[in-house]
Amino acid sequence: MVQGERNRDADEAIATLRRFLRARWEERDEVLFRTTAPLPTAPPVAPGPAIRTPAPAQAFSRPAFQRPAAAVSAFPPRPAGGVSTSGETPRPSAAGITPSSRAPAVERHGSGILNPARSEKGRELLKLWERIRACDKCSGLCKGRQNFVFGTGNPEARVVFVGEAPGEQEDKQGLPFVGPAGRLLNDLLVGIGLQRDDVFICNVIKCRPPQNRKPELEEIENCEMHLFEQLRIMSPPILVALGTFAAQSLLQTMQPIGRLRGRWLRWKDADLLATYHPSAGLRAGSFKKTIEEDFQLLKARLAKAKPGTA
Ligand code: URA
Repeated sequence: MVQGERNRDADEAIATLRRFLRARWEERDEVLFRTTAPLPTAPPVAPGPAIRTPAPAQAFSRPAFQRPAAAVSAFPPRPAGGVSTSGETPRPSAAGITPSSRAPAVERHGSGILNPARSEKGRELLKLWERIRACDKCSGLCKGRQNFVFGTGNPEARVVFVGEAPGEQEDKQGLPFVGPAGRLLNDLLVGIGLQRDDVFICNVIKCRPPQNRKPELEEIENCEMHLFEQLRIMSPPILVALGTFAAQSLLQTMQPIGRLRGRWLRWKDADLLATYHPSAGLRAGSFKKTIEEDFQLLKARLAKAKPGTA
């Protein structure tokens, strides 16, 4: 066999294998993708939140994780590419959680980053946004986007929330979680004494998948480095993974969210809490209740930290 044919055979074999693995990934084949190494669990810190045994595994349900297509924005449109300031004064939150931005006016940069000029992390994050906002590395999702959805919030936040991918409203406004799931996320935050501006919110995938379909493995692989770079810059002590894709991408596992949620795990130097995606909470009250329970772990984790620390 000549060299060219051998290469072609190898390419075909690799392509077949990739197709097979992708199909298994999409079918959530736990046998094939099960991690052999145990997931890193955060050591219990007395009198911190109890490390709970995960609830009995809930069957993975595709429809539960599909985001609703239609969305009405709960948020004012962001300034086009620029900066706006509002006279909003950050309010101290309940449960002893002090908002990390104390300055009187909030500078809402068009990137989504709040007060980017005020901190080293803000400036670095803004530079990253400038570098990647026109990203076309995936040569797929980027083609259909209206906006690259970088993320929004306080670059110095103690908590970074990671979702899945922008939906219709997010794509229109260039901001994450501004549709119905975003409204629920806001309510969940308020429920534990936090405001949206206290935290940073972003997604694994920065461009909207068509019809809000689930991201494919290759799309995640092409995009997740932007998230990892954001996390490197912000180095938050606490991460909250919202839903299957965020949890699986961060933890590099194929374990279902039902097994990952509801306990503190580790991601590099951060404590990581995984919970169901807010859109699952919109679909079923039982999921919403579970997310609220998981958010109580976050509240307890924040309350035990000294002000100004994690
Ligand atoms: N769902 C997500 O995962 N992210 C968003 O930004 C909106 C909905």
